[in-house]
Amino acid sequence: MTTTHNLGFPSIGHKRELKKALEFYWQGQCNDETLVTIGRHLRAKHWHLQQETGLDWVPVGEFSYYDRMLDMICLLGSVPKRFGFDGEIGFAEYFALARGNKAQPALEMTKWFDTNYHYIVPEFTAETTFEAFPEKFLGMVEEALQLNLAAKPVLIGPLTFLCLGKEKEDGFERLSLLSRLIPAYQSILSQLKARGIEWVQLDEPALALDLPQAWVQQLQPAYKALAQVAPKILLTTYFESVGDSLPLLKSLPVAGLHLDLTAAADQLEAYLSLPDNADQVLSVGVVDGRGIWKTDLQAALSMLEKARLRLGDRLWVAPGCSLLHVPVDLAQETTIEPELKDWLAFGLQKLQELNTLRQGLDLGASSIQGELAANRQSMQNRAHSGHICNPQVRERIRNLSADAAMRQHDFSIRQKRQQEKFRLPLFPTTTIGSFPQTDEIRELRSASKKGKISGADYEFAMRSEIRECIEMQEKMGLDVLVHGEPERNDMVEYFGEQLQGFAFTQHGWVQSYGSRCVKPPVIYGDVWREQSMTVSWIRYAQSLTTRPVKGMLTGPVTILQWSFYRNDQSREETALQIALAIRDEVCDLEQAGIRVIQIDEPAYREGLPLKRKDWNAYLEWASRVFRVAASGVGDDTQIHTHMCYSEFHDIMPAIAAMDADVITIEASRSDLELLQRDSFHYPNEIGPGVYDVHSPEVPEVGQMVALLEKMRGAVADDNLWVNPDCGLKTRQWKEVKPALENMVAAARQLREKVQPEKQVSLTNI
Ligand code: GLN
Ligand code: ZN
Repeated sequence: MTTTHNLGFPSIGHKRELKKALEFYWQGQCNDETLVTIGRHLRAKHWHLQQETGLDWVPVGEFSYYDRMLDMICLLGSVPKRFGFDGEIGFAEYFALARGNKAQPALEMTKWFDTNYHYIVPEFTAETTFEAFPEKFLGMVEEALQLNLAAKPVLIGPLTFLCLGKEKEDGFERLSLLSRLIPAYQSILSQLKARGIEWVQLDEPALALDLPQAWVQQLQPAYKALAQVAPKILLTTYFESVGDSLPLLKSLPVAGLHLDLTAAADQLEAYLSLPDNADQVLSVGVVDGRGIWKTDLQAALSMLEKARLRLGDRLWVAPGCSLLHVPVDLAQETTIEPELKDWLAFGLQKLQELNTLRQGLDLGASSIQGELAANRQSMQNRAHSGHICNPQVRERIRNLSADAAMRQHDFSIRQKRQQEKFRLPLFPTTTIGSFPQTDEIRELRSASKKGKISGADYEFAMRSEIRECIEMQEKMGLDVLVHGEPERNDMVEYFGEQLQGFAFTQHGWVQSYGSRCVKPPVIYGDVWREQSMTVSWIRYAQSLTTRPVKGMLTGPVTILQWSFYRNDQSREETALQIALAIRDEVCDLEQAGIRVIQIDEPAYREGLPLKRKDWNAYLEWASRVFRVAASGVGDDTQIHTHMCYSEFHDIMPAIAAMDADVITIEASRSDLELLQRDSFHYPNEIGPGVYDVHSPEVPEVGQMVALLEKMRGAVADDNLWVNPDCGLKTRQWKEVKPALENMVAAARQLREKVQPEKQVSLTNI
């Protein structure tokens, strides 16, 4: 018999119940006990839903109140000393680690592989020690056992845990901590075994990266040590091929290995052609855990039948990766076009697909004839739908000249023209775009969406928000203003809603980090722009002030990456279509007198393939599509871009190749690490963030001046901007106001010092 299992399930809930509970908790409106109860109910519900689809093993313990890596930090007793927390971590300490407190900045956060999920980065020093604090984890396992569940506890494996962390001091390598880490894992694993757990899942997605040999060599001794005390270990890899590590993985003393065939199908042949390991189960991921398209069941079945012939009952079937990255349930969607809905599968539907596949394997394809026929029909309907192809868009792309991806002149010429035009002070201050999204703003948007207020009333209300935002910024003394983005629910959804080729779900939420969720649009067809999307708001904002207001757009790579994109054409193709739509918007803004335009690309890096060998090809097209979006304007229109929450140092040349006049970039959480590298070089203007917008703490002037002084070591004065790390929409005005006032004061202090003779001039456009 074939075994089916799941690797992980979203914690957030059908209706984002966890998000709401967390936010209540943080506002002091619910206590520890209530939060615990809500968590327990969600877990039980999710386990049952999964089990009802027919799964043999249900993942347990991967549920998180904020982030799984943070859970691992607490579970392994490796909370950084700087927090001064000892022993078992309660909610107060847990959230302080994630969000910072008065005394300490939060732990760094970065993107989980090439997904849009963000994890909390472990901090390591030579003194880091580990000690298991398994009470909470075992508590979840106990809950599942009490419910008579076939529970498969899930942990992040030791190599991935170390690999995704960061060394916080020089002269030591975090891999050297492995020998201290293993006993902590052993302690947890042996307790699982004592509790009668049969299988435990250890996630080692780090194997999808180009893991250095020194790391790969540790797999054998590490897993040997773990296997001695653990239940049967299922070592899971996902997101990419494990490449050359496959023979080693097949020979490890682990009872099971999971390969993500949706990321790299050739791994199956490679595995089967290696010497047999009769002690090892092979779990294959054949249902895409990251996309929302239905699985081609016939294709999956053919692949599985081959494996089944060789492996018999040692074949397990699963989604490629955890379902963390897809919405919970398509059944909740009642407004999506039936034609499109027929092409889709969300989390629970994917698990149902597994069950169908299992049946086909165990009882023969004829036993699932009906399902196969319906699935084939869906595939055909999609391939031949009249709603996918737009010949004009394709024609425009075919005829696109090389010039379309180039500004009129080089940056040095543009910079002069822009300086003459804007006459900004040294170290100009700006923000990243959004201002606090108050309850009032959210209610207005939602009322307008539901048709509860008229278009005119909505516009009036939004305009008054924009007016207030402009007035505030003028009062605070910022140099380049923004309209505040009150009309935007989300930086991708806002554009997707106005572009053709996009569709929207009602409840298709996916966790981004902590309580933050996104509802990615579905790109199902060719993308094009019917009419301008932002011009009237920005033009209004600009009409209120003599200082420049930045037009605010989302870039093609980010729109692509933060959507569920097509699997029937390349990412490049889709991104280029989006780029043309954004290009038209950029030109319309310029026409409307907006001379500073920001095209956000926070997802630029996360689009990178996981294997280095594939990087160049990606970076080449990614920078090109950005330039296609940005290059329709004159030299004296200033193009900004913005990026955040990822590593940038290794792609700086490709970031420079985007040729934005100014980049604002997140830097304060990692203590300006980026700028302190010898190799750091950005040829155009740059604003490394001077404070962390995810922390409610108000940064002090001195602190920001000190950061700016550090930046001056790496960036020429003429090229240095002063701004926060990211948009301010998650903050409250009472935090934003003093923070920005301090930021402006910091910039002024620095100007005084560097150019005491120059008066700070108010800018005119
Ligand atoms: N302009 C966006 C904002 O300020 C950028 C958000 C982001 O980088 N994720 O909210
Ligand atoms: Zn950002």
